[in-house]
Amino acid sequence: MTDDAKFILRTLAEIYPNITIPLHHTSSFSLLMAVILSAQCTDEQVNRVTSILFSAAPDPQTMKDLPLEKIESIIHSCGLFRSKARAIKGCAQIIADYYDGKVPETFEELEKLPGVGHKTASVMIAQCFNGYAFPVDTHIRRLANRWGLAHSQNVVIVENNLKKLFPKEEWHDLHIRMIRFGREYCPAKNHRIDHCPICQFISKTCIN
Ligand code: SF4
Repeated sequence: MTDDAKFILRTLAEIYPNITIPLHHTSSFSLLMAVILSAQCTDEQVNRVTSILFSAAPDPQTMKDLPLEKIESIIHSCGLFRSKARAIKGCAQIIADYYDGKVPETFEELEKLPGVGHKTASVMIAQCFNGYAFPVDTHIRRLANRWGLAHSQNVVIVENNLKKLFPKEEWHDLHIRMIRFGREYCPAKNHRIDHCPICQFISKTCIN
């Protein structure tokens, strides 16, 4: 690891000693639903919506039987509600019918589910199935570039760079800490380098 990477790892662990995923869930299925809903939506809003959604349909079987219009009306406030409702119902249907009600545990199977891309599959692998994955969202991509850990807007390239730079045992906690730091300190505009607990101390900042 480079000195900057070590400093970033250590500083993030000091700022965020407790790692909990903010999306409320009680099973791999409920986390999958919450992650699908989280696209372009705040975690708080997702949690409000899932408390209603999971009361109506707590598992794949009941979710697949819920009318599409009912799902749409419950998740309406999350944005992109039509495509998200189709993804939720479609996932529930496949998981209930082909996987005996259990969320599949491989990248290949997860990425075939409706509405599930590589980032969502990575979250599931890292969070539920104890696998090694580094989900890269917009915050992580921005931070990796600003910290000089990657030089690309392509999330696949950023993911590969970060995986090479940090030991795989760190990937899970580091990705959650980077998202939290990105939300708290590192907006696209108006960041304050003199107030920043990382950029003011590392050598390779690439501020833009
Ligand atoms: S100084 Fe700006 S770019 Fe660097 S981490 Fe802080 S907020 Fe982000």
